[in-house]
Amino acid sequence: MSNSTDELFKNVISHAKEYGFVFQSSEIYDGLSAVYDYGQNGAELKNNIKTYWWKAMVQMNDNIVGIDSAIFMHPTVWKASGHVDGFSDPMIDNKDSKKRYRADQLLEDRIATLDSEGKTSEAEELQLEMDNALKAEDLPRLKELILEQNIKCPISNTANWTDVRQFNLMFSTQVGAVADESETIYLRPETAQGIFVNYLNVQKTGRMKIPFGIAQIGKAFRNEVIARQFIIRMREFEQMEMQFFVRPGTQREWFDQWKEARLKWHLALGTDAAKYRYHEHTKLAHYADAAYDIEFDFPFGFKEVEGIHSRTNFDLTQHEKYSRKKMQYFDPEVDPETGKPYGNYVPYVIETSIGLDRMFLLTMINAYEEEDLSTEEKQDSRTVLRLHPCLAPVKAAIFPLTKKDGLPEKAREIMDTLKLNFNLQYEEKDAIGKRYRRQDAIGTPFCITVDHQTLEDNTVTIRHRDSMAQERVAAADLENIIGDLVSW
Ligand code: ATP
Repeated sequence: MSNSTDELFKNVISHAKEYGFVFQSSEIYDGLSAVYDYGQNGAELKNNIKTYWWKAMVQMNDNIVGIDSAIFMHPTVWKASGHVDGFSDPMIDNKDSKKRYRADQLLEDRIATLDSEGKTSEAEELQLEMDNALKAEDLPRLKELILEQNIKCPISNTANWTDVRQFNLMFSTQVGAVADESETIYLRPETAQGIFVNYLNVQKTGRMKIPFGIAQIGKAFRNEVIARQFIIRMREFEQMEMQFFVRPGTQREWFDQWKEARLKWHLALGTDAAKYRYHEHTKLAHYADAAYDIEFDFPFGFKEVEGIHSRTNFDLTQHEKYSRKKMQYFDPEVDPETGKPYGNYVPYVIETSIGLDRMFLLTMINAYEEEDLSTEEKQDSRTVLRLHPCLAPVKAAIFPLTKKDGLPEKAREIMDTLKLNFNLQYEEKDAIGKRYRRQDAIGTPFCITVDHQTLEDNTVTIRHRDSMAQERVAAADLENIIGDLVSW
């Protein structure tokens, strides 16, 4: 990471804290690693991102509906989905520092170093060896590679490693008050399974016809071993997932369509297309027949934000096997080739899965700008969040010019006419210039000032965040002016 991008990332993190977007969880107790809280502006921004997604997926598609399933599920769900046996990372501990690492991550870092030193063929060879060991789940071989490469613990600087072990990423807890009657259950590591187990409930009660989708936004939990890069890798995070159920044989077509549609959703926020790229998975999970990530160019490099996966009929078939309940759909449509209805089958599934927190971070990074406003006479600058107005936490701030002469009352009166439709902020402290800067820093698209003229003719000045231009408008027009810019 170059110095300037390193600096940018650090500045965004401290800005997020200083302006009430993201706080370290339980900060007064020195925090809890890889867990974060969203503050007053963060919660608004996060809600707006959710709304943008929900509208694009559920409201705009009449064959997609949304649900909200529970975090706790029957423990057999996770057996059927493969998470109990397979949702794990290979871990290694350094005996001196007692620090735990992901074995594959240590090797990935080593490969990156070799690459940056121009040792391309060594890097490629190591990559291949690591991929083979991971595929074969050959844990001793992973350790051998770490020793061969003389990889040292960044804390103790020694290569005194334990064996590599698999470490399941699911958090477990007990249900039931009496110890011997209790049962181990898991905090869901993905929201998708809540959709799979409900797919027939939704299909029947909603009279859905294939192809159709079920969307959901919710928390997921993973006991990530290395917590890095702020809210990129958390132990408690939020996903926005959609499972699209299709007729077997049509999955490639739908996969291509969703892959494109999802990138368009990202770009519709005005982000430079060069900041995004697709990454095709060459090592596919056993249940997938195609998988692409949408990656964003974060200050620390391209990183996955969203996955689009063709999951075949794996999950539904597994649930059919474990629950012994039929997971089949009856397709009444006539197959033109046979002249008969397609009949019963277990649908294939295309999944789009985006991390809300990663989307939040990329939105902050994209919007953050330290703008130089210096003129020949004086040096000046501002920090502005150029958020898309639909995503801005506060849509408009209302300022009385002074705290007297009835201006606060007039400002409040105008605010009352607008606050049902827009999230507004009232501010009367400090000079107007200072108030503008505070609103720029949280990305508020409009600042409205109520002055003495307002008392006479009911006009106000409205100042635009990006251009900083000001104009005088009738208070009665504010609803339309703000609405035009911030409505979806
Ligand atoms: P990674 O390879 O980065 O661990 P993943 O491939 O395990 O991610 P998926 O299981 O495909 O991720 O989950 C879908 C999305 O959920 C990811 O694209 C990412 O945006 C988000 N996500 C996954 N794990 C985390 C996490 N620990 N913290 C925050 N977001 C996450």
